[in-house]
Amino acid sequence: MSDTKTPGDKTLHVSAKTLSLPKRPAEQNTVRQSFSHGRSKAVVVETVKRRTGPAAPKEAAPAPAAAPAAPRPVAPVAPASSARQPIAVNRPAPPAAAAPAPAPRPAAPAPRPAAPAAAPRPAAPTPAPRAATPPAAPSTPRPAAGQAPGGRPTGIVLRTLTDQERDARVHALTDAKRREEEDRRIAEENARRRAEREARDQQEREAAETRKRDEEDRRRQEEERKRRAEEEARRRLGEITPPSPVTPRPSDGRRPQNLDMIGRRPAPAAQPTNKDAQQRPAASAGAATARPAAPGGRTAPAAAADDESDRKVVIRRPGMPLKIITPPKAPKGPGGGNRDRRGRLTVTTATSGEDERTRSVASFRRRMQRMSGHRQVEEKEKLSREVTIPETITIQDLANRMAERAVDVIKLLMKQGQIHKITDTIDADTAQLVAEELGHTVRRVAEADVLEGLFDEPDLEEHLEPRPPVVTIMGHVDHGKTSLLDAIRKTDVVAGEAGGITQHIGAYQITTPSGAQITFIDTPGHAAFTAMRARGAKITDMVVLVVAADDGVMPQTIEAISHAKAADVPIIVAINKIDKPGANPQRVRTELLQHDIQVESMGGSTLEFEVSALTGQGLDELLEGLLLQAEVLDLKADPLRNAEGTVIEAKLDRGRGPVATVLVQRGLLEPGDIIVAGAEWGRVRALVSDTGEMIEEAGPSYPAQVLGFNGTPDAGDRVAVVESEARAREITEYRARVKRERAAARASVNRGSLADMMRDLREGGGRKEFPLVIKGDVGGSVEAILTALEKLGNEEVGARILHGGVGAITESDVTLAQASGAVIIGFNVRAHKEAREAAERAGIEIRYYNIIYNLVDDVRDAMSGMLPPNLREERLGEAKILEVFDVSKIGKVAGCRVMDGRVERGAHIRLIRDNVVIHEGGRLQTLKRFKDDVSSVVAGQECGMSFDNYDKIRVGDVIECFHVHEERRSL
Ligand code: GDP
Repeated sequence: MSDTKTPGDKTLHVSAKTLSLPKRPAEQNTVRQSFSHGRSKAVVVETVKRRTGPAAPKEAAPAPAAAPAAPRPVAPVAPASSARQPIAVNRPAPPAAAAPAPAPRPAAPAPRPAAPAAAPRPAAPTPAPRAATPPAAPSTPRPAAGQAPGGRPTGIVLRTLTDQERDARVHALTDAKRREEEDRRIAEENARRRAEREARDQQEREAAETRKRDEEDRRRQEEERKRRAEEEARRRLGEITPPSPVTPRPSDGRRPQNLDMIGRRPAPAAQPTNKDAQQRPAASAGAATARPAAPGGRTAPAAAADDESDRKVVIRRPGMPLKIITPPKAPKGPGGGNRDRRGRLTVTTATSGEDERTRSVASFRRRMQRMSGHRQVEEKEKLSREVTIPETITIQDLANRMAERAVDVIKLLMKQGQIHKITDTIDADTAQLVAEELGHTVRRVAEADVLEGLFDEPDLEEHLEPRPPVVTIMGHVDHGKTSLLDAIRKTDVVAGEAGGITQHIGAYQITTPSGAQITFIDTPGHAAFTAMRARGAKITDMVVLVVAADDGVMPQTIEAISHAKAADVPIIVAINKIDKPGANPQRVRTELLQHDIQVESMGGSTLEFEVSALTGQGLDELLEGLLLQAEVLDLKADPLRNAEGTVIEAKLDRGRGPVATVLVQRGLLEPGDIIVAGAEWGRVRALVSDTGEMIEEAGPSYPAQVLGFNGTPDAGDRVAVVESEARAREITEYRARVKRERAAARASVNRGSLADMMRDLREGGGRKEFPLVIKGDVGGSVEAILTALEKLGNEEVGARILHGGVGAITESDVTLAQASGAVIIGFNVRAHKEAREAAERAGIEIRYYNIIYNLVDDVRDAMSGMLPPNLREERLGEAKILEVFDVSKIGKVAGCRVMDGRVERGAHIRLIRDNVVIHEGGRLQTLKRFKDDVSSVVAGQECGMSFDNYDKIRVGDVIECFHVHEERRSL
């Protein structure tokens, strides 16, 4: 069976081989042709040609030996197919067609040795019939020829061969050998040719190299020559230009013009102008090189003319009328363009080499690009910068600082697997990595470093000068703070004289009758004072504590004392309202003692003055006392340095934009200064005094309204003058970011953590919040209100400030309040008409206040209302169940005896079984004593009871009876 298969296989193989055969020559051909770097197809074409060469012999071989060969080829195959497989004999025809296969063998060197050995085996008989086929053989010999390599057929054919066959085979072998040699020879031939071609190419390349080198050398030389010539020309021009060499020549004025037009002859004269320079370059290199010398020697132009006379142009010129303007054509000539360019390249006598003319524009440009490109790369490598990297930086910013392209930075990050946009912020570590990768050095800075040197730079001792004291007035409500300030103000000799209209700017300076100055700060409250101090603004030098003589020390007096003490500033006590009949200054003195303030008259060190804001009594003494205290404090500041100060108040003025009252603490503030305050900066546009006058400067301890801020700073923000806008921006951006982060942090605290939420869920409700929108007249008030309100809450309820800002109540405030069901509070501000209407529509309450304490009290009360009441339990007594009855309609009724105390109808009950509470929460629904409903039953008596919705009672259970009292709580 396997036999039968084999022949079948063979047949197939044969055909397969027939197909594969051409490969061999093809390979050779490909190799041969690899040189032309044409496509492989092209190679095949050549192969065919070549093959015709070798083929000829191949075919020739069979041709002459046609007769013997014909049987030969057949022989091997025929046996293969027919010898073993009689059935196959039917098929032989097709195989026979394939019979050509044998021929291949000759081409196969390998099989050959086997052939003789195999020879004996092949059965002779079959060849004969096959012999008939030979005619077909010649037609297919070639494909057949390739088939030989198939090892298999040979193997099968191993049978005895007839002499004829052997001969045929030998012939075939020799033919194959011959063909092989032929092939080899051809291959060698090709290889030789290839080598030759290579050699030729190499030579050409070398030649090109040399040419290029020569060219470059020449160009270099020429450039050198040109440069020298230019120098020479310039030198000479410097000497001789005035007596233009042309001027002598023109006998008639027109000539030079024409000449100029024609043929750049007047080059020397024309040299200075650009137009000429452009025309001139059209001249040949030779002429051009000659020209530089022209201005010097008279002969030069002649030489140029000679030169030109060689050209067609020149022939025409003398030819006739000078008007024949042939010259313009010249530049159009083939070289013209180039010359023009050259002219542009080198202004004077651009003499570029001949070779350059052959260069195309594109190639020249490419070369230039290449050169410039290389140079750039070199420069890049050289540039290493010190890059300052803050804690976070955007990619754009980083790229700018390194003077690199942002794309490169992004690319680099991508390589590290991070995909970023140009506006993304990366941390300092990543930024450092990038910067170092790009060959820069890095200087890491903490963000807060931007504030370095902004404040508190030490003053030079010799520059210090005394400054007026800054005083804050504090005290309990209605003790006369405002009245006192007003009274003091009236004593201001300067303002009095000038008759200026005083303005409320939060602070003002007065000049005492003695000529000294004192600055008063009019803060909206103690809380605001402390809020300012909390931001690092130590603005006040001393505190005047106003205590009404008829009222004594009150809660806010105590508060004021603690604030002043916390600020570590001296206190001066002003006992006010001494004009009042019920005034008792002595009482005030003693009361103050309880708060650790010992006044002078009581042997202490605290100055105290009895004053009356109403009558003005004792005011001068008070002012003197303040000055005295200031002297003790030895207040000094450098009035020359860059100004530093604090924002006392700030608001957004409709007409003037952001207006901030700044108390200058050191240095001199002037219009034009670039200042930063908190997260805002600006250029001082104008300074306005407390009397509304424009002032030119504000020195230490002077409160001035500053116009020019870009935004409204907050009260308590420290103000500093910086050297540049860039620095101002840097600082404010940093502060704005910090502010944002703080706000975000606060918001997240408000939101609460997951744990908080879970706790809330567990406890059946979280912290209740009282949402508020606060609007105030000045930043200081709002700040104070916010601080006070934030302190109000406890763990159960708290104020939640949705928004706190300066200005009138607007529609957007109402919208905000509506969204969260908040109350809007206006402190010294009113709502716009639209806002009012919107609030009415939305049912939002707007409350107005002008006293912080009232506001805070109201909010406290409202929040107290939100507190759940305290539940207090009052035990009444207990009863024991002796019997349980089932009563229709009513349910279970317990017959009990009251053991102690009493039981009351309607009271809360608790059911206890074996000392374990098994039910709680119901009420005693029915209480009977001998069929009568009673309201209470006392100890020792028996009674019947039934309960709300509970009847799982048993004998022996104890019923505890109690009342629950609710107690309202307050904050
Ligand atoms: P503030 O709340 O501390 O600013 O107190 P005010 O300055 O508003 O004064 C409260 C009230 O006390 C006002 O009605 C004043 O007229 C009155 N008052 C203030 N100072 C004096 C004073 O020296 N003598 C008398 N008799 N009344 C005064």
